[in-house]
Amino acid sequence: MSMLEVRQLDVRHGLLQAVRAIDLAVESGETVAIVGANGAGKTTLMRALAGAHPATSGTVHFEGEDITRLAAHKRVARGIALVPEGRRLFAALSVEENLLLARSARRAGTWTVEAVLETFPNLAGRRHALAGTLSGGEQQAVAIGRALMTNPLLLLLDEVSLGLSPLAVDRVYAALANLAGGATMILVEQDLSRVLAIADRILCMLEGRIVLQGPTSSLTRAQVTDAYFGLAAGGPRTTQRAPA
Ligand code: ATP
Repeated sequence: MSMLEVRQLDVRHGLLQAVRAIDLAVESGETVAIVGANGAGKTTLMRALAGAHPATSGTVHFEGEDITRLAAHKRVARGIALVPEGRRLFAALSVEENLLLARSARRAGTWTVEAVLETFPNLAGRRHALAGTLSGGEQQAVAIGRALMTNPLLLLLDEVSLGLSPLAVDRVYAALANLAGGATMILVEQDLSRVLAIADRILCMLEGRIVLQGPTSSLTRAQVTDAYFGLAAGGPRTTQRAPA
């Protein structure tokens, strides 16, 4: 049994079908990266996995339990935490307050404010700073820290490097690489070099579908970029599964 099993998942925004017939299994300890052009459906898929957006059809099982209709806060209690695109911190609350807010729905576990501050050295001395006054990199560290405070089994990271300086991205990925040993992660990332460096497996989405997936070691950069732009042999609609 995989930690996460997604079968034939469809997700809509009104009439627009953003996620189409996704099948996905994630094993405990894996780091899976999702790449794809703007509008490919990556954020919608992540939000559907977190319970922030309802599935139209299909199923999501987590640790053997059918969570397809489970509310987001109950998924947090089961061990699924989303770091949303755009971070979504409470700007008028301090770093510590933002982190402590995550306690309400969390699983039992060992993450504390101190542990988060140790994991992200750029937050040292910023504990009482208001989140709205932080740099983008610091805010992203708080957003990831807030997810960690729920003691997740599965961490969903949506475009954590968006809008950050290269140095801030380096810091975020250094922290994630440290976590990767013990955590299971699905991350949406536009930067292919980061993806190739951190992911065990890559999924490429196009127009709501997975058009290419495989272990990072078996995919070339050219294969991934071709799938990204819909150039894979036969086009996206006939290339449901590509070279594994
Ligand atoms: P990006 O990299 O731009 O975030 P993405 O791959 O994450 O793109 P989504 O944000 O999931 O893609 O969008 C998938 C499709 O759903 C797009 O066509 C988008 O316009 C549409 N969409 C996303 N959010 C909404 C919404 N709240 N209401 C209506 N349509 C939406």
